Amino acid sequence: MHQKPDADAMGSSLALFHYFQLKHHQVAVVSPTSYPDFLKWMPGAKEVIVYESHPEKATQALQNAEIIFCMDFNAFHRARPADEALAQSAGIKVMIDHHLQPEPVFEYGLSDVQASSTAELVYEVIIGWGDKSLINNEIAQCIYAGTMTDTGSFRFAATSARVHRMVADLMDQGLRHEPIHQAIYDNFLENRLRFLGYVLSNRMEIFYEYNAALIAVPASDVRKFNLSSGDTEGLVNYPLSIQGIKLSALMVENHQEIRISLRSKGDFDVNEFARKYFNGGGHLNAAGGRSTDSLEATVARFKKALEENKALLEKPLKNP
Ligand code: 5GP
Ligand code: MN
Repeated sequence: MHQKPDADAMGSSLALFHYFQLKHHQVAVVSPTSYPDFLKWMPGAKEVIVYESHPEKATQALQNAEIIFCMDFNAFHRARPADEALAQSAGIKVMIDHHLQPEPVFEYGLSDVQASSTAELVYEVIIGWGDKSLINNEIAQCIYAGTMTDTGSFRFAATSARVHRMVADLMDQGLRHEPIHQAIYDNFLENRLRFLGYVLSNRMEIFYEYNAALIAVPASDVRKFNLSSGDTEGLVNYPLSIQGIKLSALMVENHQEIRISLRSKGDFDVNEFARKYFNGGGHLNAAGGRSTDSLEATVARFKKALEENKALLEKPLKNP
C-alpha cells in the first residue's frame, strides 16, 4: 500500500490479504510507514509489516514475493521509503488503483479512475474471479471502510450507483456499517478536537476572490497539541463547507517537509494543480503534494498559483 496509508489503502490491502488467505496463498502485507491509530481495529491490521519500523522483514517479504499487488497507488515513489525495495523485487507487480495518470512501471494493472476507491475495485476483482461467496465479514468490513472514507461517507461525485449496490449487497450479507463509522470518525482524543477549533479560528485564511481557502499549520502547532499521524486527516474538508468555496488547501509543516492536501468541488482539477505547483497528484477533487521550502514560501507559492488560476476559480459553482 502507499505511504501514510488511509482507510482505503489499508482496507483494499487487507481485503485482498484475507481473500488470498482463504485461497491458501502465502501472503504478507507491507505498509511503507505506520498507519493511524483509528485504523487499528481493522481485521488483519496487526499483520501489517511496517517498513519504517521493520525494514529487513518488509524487504524480505518484498524479495520473496512472486506477485506484488500495489494497492491504492500508481507510482513507486508513493511507496517511500519502501519504494526501492519494491522496485528491486523480482516479483510481478500488479497495480490496483483509482488515481489519475498511472506510471508504466507495473507488469499488470487495473487502473479505474471512475472507481470510488481501491476497496471497491477489490470487491469487483474478487467477484470477477468468481469468488463472491468468499467475501466474509472481515473482507466486507475492510472494503466498506475504504469506500466509506474515500467517498466522504458516500457524498463525493464518485459515489456511483455501483457503490450503493455494492454496499447494499455487503449489508445483505450481514455487514454492520455503524460500528465502522464510529471506529473511524468518533475515535479521536480531546486534543484533536481542541486543535481543530484552534486552527479553524487562527490558521484558516479565505480568499473570496478565488473561492479558495488555506489552512497552514506550522510545526509549533503540531507540537503544542501533541498531534499524531491521522490527527490532521479530514481537516482540509472543513473550508469547503463555506458557501461558494471550491478549493481548499491544507499545509502541515513537519521536520523534513510540508505536506499539502488539496480538495475541490466541481471541475477545478486539483490533480493538475498538485502536479504543477506541489510535486504531487491524485484525483480531480482530492490530491496531495509536498514542498521542501519554508511554510511562508509555500504559502506564497499557493497564493501565486491562485492568481494564475483565477479565471477557473472565480467561476461560481453550479446549482443542483
Ligand atoms: P491526502 O490529501 O488525503 O493525503 O491525499 C488525497 C489524495 O491524493 C489521495 O487519494 C492520495 O492518494 C493522493 N495523493 C496524495 N499525495 C499525493 C502525491 O504526492 N502524489 C500522488 N500521485 N497522489 C497523491
Ligand atoms: Mn483510494
